[in-house]
Amino acid sequence: MSQDDLQADCSRCVGLCCVALSFDRSDRFGHDKIAGEPCYHLRSDFGCKIHARREELGYEGCIAFDCLGAGQRATALFAERDWRGDRSVALQLYARFSLLTKLQEMRQALLTAADLGLPAELEAERVALLARIVDIADGDAAAGTEAEIGARADTALTQSKAFLRRLADVVSL
Ligand code: SF4
Repeated sequence: MSQDDLQADCSRCVGLCCVALSFDRSDRFGHDKIAGEPCYHLRSDFGCKIHARREELGYEGCIAFDCLGAGQRATALFAERDWRGDRSVALQLYARFSLLTKLQEMRQALLTAADLGLPAELEAERVALLARIVDIADGDAAAGTEAEIGARADTALTQSKAFLRRLADVVSL
């Protein structure tokens, strides 16, 4: 398990960050976009029409965003499903992408905590929580209904956040 597992691969994604997420016109985004609707700069091949000019045109938020590999994971999971033709499936895909983004962010945080030189008990807890997060993102725990997976992920994310809060106390001592 390494930082390589956190690399986004846009070539294996169907432009999910440019569809699933919302943003508001601001100094980071050039227009308003609601969640679940494609950005009007998104090409039909899932590339960005203004990719090279995003900073110039006021889309620094797009440059800064990193799904940490959630995009290619969600795309692969829904490859055999008709998300293009069935809006309800598309909404499940977008929800899974959002969930995977949270899982990958937590995976990154728990991986980074390996560098803290934690006491053995906390280190064992970190490793166990990381294994659960990875299992939901990549492994056997990714099976089941969307509701089941969501509930499993919520529990693991809540426990991981509580663990990181406790670590913050330990590290600041
Ligand atoms: S501007 Fe480009 S990168 Fe940003 S959301 Fe739209 S299509 Fe995606």
